[in-house]
Amino acid sequence: MKLAARAERLKPSATLAITAKAKALKAEGVDVVGFGAGEPDFDTPENIKEEAIRAIKEGFTKYTAVGGIDELKNAIIHRIKEDHGIKYEKSEIIVSCGAKHTLYNLSQAIFEEGDEVIIPSPYWVSYPEQVILAGAKPVFIETKEDYDFKIDPDELKKLITNKTKALILNYPSNPTGATYTEYELRDIVDVAMKAGLSIISDEIYEKIIYDGLTHTPVVKLGEEIKKSTFLVNGVSKSYSMTGWRIGYAAGDKMIIEAMSNLQGQSTSNPTSISQRAAVEALKGSQEEVKRMAKEFEKRKNYIVERLNKIPGFRCFNPQGAFYVFPNISSFFGKKYTGKEIRNSVDFTEFLLGEAKVAVVPGIEFGADKYVRISYATSMEEIKKGVDRIEKAVERLK
Ligand SMILES: *Cc1c(COP(=O)(O)O)cnc(C)c1O
Repeated sequence: MKLAARAERLKPSATLAITAKAKALKAEGVDVVGFGAGEPDFDTPENIKEEAIRAIKEGFTKYTAVGGIDELKNAIIHRIKEDHGIKYEKSEIIVSCGAKHTLYNLSQAIFEEGDEVIIPSPYWVSYPEQVILAGAKPVFIETKEDYDFKIDPDELKKLITNKTKALILNYPSNPTGATYTEYELRDIVDVAMKAGLSIISDEIYEKIIYDGLTHTPVVKLGEEIKKSTFLVNGVSKSYSMTGWRIGYAAGDKMIIEAMSNLQGQSTSNPTSISQRAAVEALKGSQEEVKRMAKEFEKRKNYIVERLNKIPGFRCFNPQGAFYVFPNISSFFGKKYTGKEIRNSVDFTEFLLGEAKVAVVPGIEFGADKYVRISYATSMEEIKKGVDRIEKAVERLK
């Protein structure tokens, strides 16, 4: 059987691939430190789990409205209003099977052949793939390490053509952990608005933010900006609910309806039980969210300090999310047991083989001089992993 061209060119997720490789080693009894994960290590808070159990016991186990139950849409509206003072109507909200699914349906609803979509690089792996699946062309704007991995508005201006349809933003960023102040954000958004672009703003890490910074959503910058922007979020990262698969978007009513139609012909509603759990996550106590963010910050401070002490590592201090994205290019050209390290994949293989530490090569995010290290694991594991990396790179000649 011959694959469709569309399926043939799809890349498997490398993040999952390295996790699988590390798992296989673990299964063989090798003690691997896993820094590959793209999910919080904390358990889902108890109140959320209990609400799911209640939903099951009450028999809330049937099809629901395709775009999510009213109760959840109201909970989403409540959270956005409480956190940021922004108002949405139910008709402007859609719930999907994870934010990844929300983004996919959004791409399908607004992009087509001939469109260009600007994506900041290093990027989350699914943005370019989803844009291509919709027939459009990803155009990358490099965010540079010496510019704190932020978009330079002048660079953005240069990349916009008459084909540019949208700008994707993701802050705090996966993989760099960079975020924007309101002031910086405004400069970028102004450029996009002047060019008449739509903005897709993936703010899934908004609650995991450090150094006392506050998160400013794009849609808070003004009524006109809000009209052109799709706010994408979900419960996966903030509430440690990756397996529950609940994400959502807020934005233009007509597009939201089109996304709902897409869902109606593909997945139908997100899981009924998960929806009830998400209501509790968004409306219940937010204390656990703060506790988890504090714990992440402690780990971040530790790992950044340690990595920057290892000769050859240069690690940007992130302001959010749960990844560090150190520059490891100074190891290129060095050798171990006869093998030369030429790129981020070689370095990743070196770490897995020689240090028994799993990270993700930066090339997957479009930045080959880096690796992504997730610190969504215990402090003991972080210490152990960094100790091992430190020892292993000493052997590189
Ligand atoms: C994890 C992640 C998502 C998707 O999360 P879901 O589990 O699908 O809700 C979206 N964007 C970024 C940047 C992520 O890291």
